[in-house]
Amino acid sequence: MKKGMKNILVVLLIGLISVPATAMISNPLTSQNFSTPSTTQQSNSWLQETQVFDMLALPPNRLKTFHVSVNGLWNGFFVEGENLSGPFEFGKYLESFYSGNVYESDAAFVQAQHQQGLLVPGTILTTQGHPALQGDLIEDFACRSADGQMATWDLNAGSYFMCAQNPDIIDWMIGQGKKAIDAGADMITLDEIEGNGLVGILQYVSTFIESNEPGFCPYCLEGFRAYLGDHFTSSELSTLFDISDLSTYEFLPRIAATMNLSYFQRIQTDPLMKEYFTFQEEGTFDAKKRLITELRTYSTSQGKNIIISANSFALGTSQTGDYLIQGLQYSSLLDFFSFENKYTALSDQSFPSLPRSKWVAWEKLARAATNAPGVILVDSAAMGKLWQQPFSVKKIRNYLAVHCAEAYANQGAFVNWFIKPFDQTYRWGGCAKIYDFVLRNRQLYDASSSIDTSTAVVYFFGKGMQNNTGNYLGLCQILAESNIPYDVIFDGDGQYLNTTLTLQNHSKYHMILVPSVVDITTQQKTLVKEFVASGGTAVVFDPEELGFPANEGPYNYGNGTFYFML
Ligand SMILES: [Zn+2]
Repeated sequence: MKKGMKNILVVLLIGLISVPATAMISNPLTSQNFSTPSTTQQSNSWLQETQVFDMLALPPNRLKTFHVSVNGLWNGFFVEGENLSGPFEFGKYLESFYSGNVYESDAAFVQAQHQQGLLVPGTILTTQGHPALQGDLIEDFACRSADGQMATWDLNAGSYFMCAQNPDIIDWMIGQGKKAIDAGADMITLDEIEGNGLVGILQYVSTFIESNEPGFCPYCLEGFRAYLGDHFTSSELSTLFDISDLSTYEFLPRIAATMNLSYFQRIQTDPLMKEYFTFQEEGTFDAKKRLITELRTYSTSQGKNIIISANSFALGTSQTGDYLIQGLQYSSLLDFFSFENKYTALSDQSFPSLPRSKWVAWEKLARAATNAPGVILVDSAAMGKLWQQPFSVKKIRNYLAVHCAEAYANQGAFVNWFIKPFDQTYRWGGCAKIYDFVLRNRQLYDASSSIDTSTAVVYFFGKGMQNNTGNYLGLCQILAESNIPYDVIFDGDGQYLNTTLTLQNHSKYHMILVPSVVDITTQQKTLVKEFVASGGTAVVFDPEELGFPANEGPYNYGNGTFYFML
């Protein structure tokens, strides 16, 4: 192992780890079709053409081997040495290490890549911080635990949890993004966009493992005080939460008292906790919205057109202790998701037994939410296991190739994670063949391609759907294993994301499957009913949410039929 490579492995593993996601054929009735306007920011960009992404920037000979067109989805953050932390540092280091090229600046690195015809990402870590990145400012940016320690992201790696409620760290991120734009980056990846949306789960996890939980810094505690003041009268605060004087109330002991409980237990035990989680979720969303908006504005002012993606682990479908990780609420702010995935949100396994590992549910969901490819990668924990070679080389080659083919078949992309000290070229050889094929046949995989199907799964984003993720994932798996082609249709919740779904006079879809109608909007309920009334078939869970009896089975409605599931 070459000098420094052990540290690189450590960096990779700490850097990327995110916290812990009836075959009934309808008669070919003519029914109305759901359609939703494009939410993508830049519809005719390179993103709408088939691309091959690698995780870590590779030197020219390897780029050729794997047909890479976007070099280094995770180019940033490097803890070794001085002045080696920024949006391109890791990519620069790795590329230089193997090619022998020396780059005087970020711009020189980007330019050299452009000269090879490559697109170049810059990376901003938006939750994880490290002294090598933020220097002494880490003290100010880090959130705090209940006992006043700097909140950790990874205790052993010396990385900390940056508090999204603190506007100064967002300003720092904006600075990093501007550096990337100035250097000529084609896109920016925001890692761990969930931010303080993770506070609940990290507090819970901290009761099992050694870590300093976030959520108790002055920005969190005073921010929560202001939030409550904005949302409740003093008499409501007294009645609902037993808070007699908001201005002097001490939140810390009360929040800390229930950290050992799972989400539903916690909000049931103390209703104030639901407000606390909402405050963290909304505050993070507003902060990340500011980050993305300012980067787009700056890019435009420089005559550029930056593409922005984010990593949201398993698109936020993963749950531990019933805490939602989230991520999809950022759909309309982003151009696409470039995200880690694992086998299933219903299991903690990072690397399951082969070959049951379909990722179609996430790939189609990412595309439906952004109208852009779901750029998917094996999560870092599983990659760590791959590097340790727990399986035969051939098995790994086939495993990766199957994922790769599946991702492109779903109009997504499968990210190449080749890293020389830990991989043999052979392992990624199956993917290399697929990369070559999809680039030669882009018209089959790009944005304008479509599959011939009359079936769609409708994902109404919102808490109801998120808490019923298993229905969605299960339906997708059943359809795929029954060889029934289908599309996924996505619509917002009316809070973070607009509800734009409408019925149009088309007849493409004859059957829709709606994994959850819990807490969907009145308009969305009406759309589902109208779809069936006009002759469609809809598989719906929780029929009582639509005003029907809670009986399982077929139910005639207008010219169509509901199939209710309980
Ligand atoms: Zn904080």
